[in-house]
Amino acid sequence: MKVDQNLCVRCGGCVGVCPFDAIEATDGSVGANQKCTDCGICERVCPMGAIKVERKL
Ligand code: SF4
Ligand code: SF4
Repeated sequence: MKVDQNLCVRCGGCVGVCPFDAIEATDGSVGANQKCTDCGICERVCPMGAIKVERKL
């Protein structure tokens, strides 16, 4: 998945829902690491619509 940093308000909501522990929130940005499977769960919880998933299936 990719996070639009202009829309993301760094609420942290996506971090806790990822079943693969793939989302990392650092000082300036939020994003997924290589553990991301593009499952789409975080996309549904983001209140800002900042997450876009390119599904592999
Ligand atoms: S849920 Fe959305 S707005 Fe909140 S930190 Fe994640 S990407 Fe950013
Ligand atoms: S798409 Fe799924 S695996 Fe990837 S960061 Fe979001 S919740 Fe985690």
